[in-house]
Amino acid sequence: MTQHKLFFYVLLTTLLTACGGASDVAVNGEGNADLAQQFKWEMATTWPANFPIFQEGAERFADDVRLMSRGRLDIHVYAGGELVPALQVFDAVSNGVVEMGHGSPYYWAGKVPEAQFFSSVPFGMTAKGMTAWLYNAGGLELWNEIYKPFNLKVLPMGNTGVQMGGWFNKQINSMEDIKGLRMRIPGLGGKVLKKAGGNPVLMAGSEVYTALERGTIDATEWVGPFHDLRLGLNRAAKFYYYPGWHEPGTVFELMINHTKWALLPTDLQKMVETAAAATSEWIYAQMEFHNQQALKELKTKQTVQILEFPEAVLSDLKRTSKATLAEEAAANPKFKRVYDAYAAFRASYEGWDKISEESYQASLRLE
Ligand code: CA
Repeated sequence: MTQHKLFFYVLLTTLLTACGGASDVAVNGEGNADLAQQFKWEMATTWPANFPIFQEGAERFADDVRLMSRGRLDIHVYAGGELVPALQVFDAVSNGVVEMGHGSPYYWAGKVPEAQFFSSVPFGMTAKGMTAWLYNAGGLELWNEIYKPFNLKVLPMGNTGVQMGGWFNKQINSMEDIKGLRMRIPGLGGKVLKKAGGNPVLMAGSEVYTALERGTIDATEWVGPFHDLRLGLNRAAKFYYYPGWHEPGTVFELMINHTKWALLPTDLQKMVETAAAATSEWIYAQMEFHNQQALKELKTKQTVQILEFPEAVLSDLKRTSKATLAEEAAANPKFKRVYDAYAAFRASYEGWDKISEESYQASLRLE
């Protein structure tokens, strides 16, 4: 080695040592994270493979976490049925078969009926009210408390925005038209329809189009213009009604196995929380963007009539919704507890909503 080369060798070695020392200090300054420790996790979702926005959101979340953690938390995302059947995701995360799951709490209504309040409630709060309740008014704490016995931690991760009322093969002019109506409508909305004389039918999304087209059902709700158009529902029924009284803003959830969560270093936990919040915003923004575009497209289709439910029908469904929730609460103390918490925040929130959003929206209809 020449004198010249030796100089650079020494300089380089010194620099590398210095850099190593400096980064050690930075790392150890925050927790005791072992940067060499890699977590390889799996997430099962309730969505079909490649399902736009929903499955995309889950995959985007995993990509964000992988990038932020420089691969220390590597989450592999599986669509519904790939690893776990869609409606068994809750159990799979609870039992630690997978570390994470993405879905919506009303899918677990059979097991945890009170969880439905964290999805969407007929004539309930929209996305902004739900966000305020969950993040600031004890909603998320209550939700976590309810999931704790199942060894689950939960974070909100998405919102559909206000959905559409659904596709009908006949016009709905009065409550008489609801009587005997065979409609695919899950959750609390289905219970309300039943109480109103309808006939709610449960079926997987994959069967909806054929059932409506063949007349096995008379009506179906699905999501909003974007997803409904993708499913081709405009080719199976003519009348497209709004608003989606039964799902005014459905919240999605990121479920995490609590035992596995506790093993994550604090910085990785923070990355999960941050990425989940960012994904929530992304999903909601995607919904609002794509729905307005798809609505424009639907309006160009001659075969589709986009109609508002008559006031009398909405008002009757609203009364029936109240009665349905009250009945459920009277029969189930756990349901009542969440119902009371939801209703208390909602009553308080309404005062502000009326003079802000509602008043402003009303002003937009003026000439
Ligand atoms: Ca829906």
